[in-house]
Amino acid sequence: MKTKCLGCKYFKIEDEEHGFCRIDKEGKNTFPKVKLSDDCEQWRDCGQNYYIRLGWLRARQSRSPEK
Ligand code: SF4
Repeated sequence: MKTKCLGCKYFKIEDEEHGFCRIDKEGKNTFPKVKLSDDCEQWRDCGQNYYIRLGWLRARQSRSPEK
């Protein structure tokens, strides 16, 4: 899981399933929405941020009444 977007330094998390890739792949200043489990060849380790994101996700999931 760590080599997926959730563990990438270019990922910005938005909710429990999605976030944005901060690499402007098309050069149009657009940052595509990606899933936590997506990946690509430009993946770079985000280090400790991975565990911070996991903690954030767990906190969100534990607060959500339908889950
Ligand atoms: S699409 Fe690639 S570069 Fe962008 S956040 Fe995901 S793994 Fe990282």
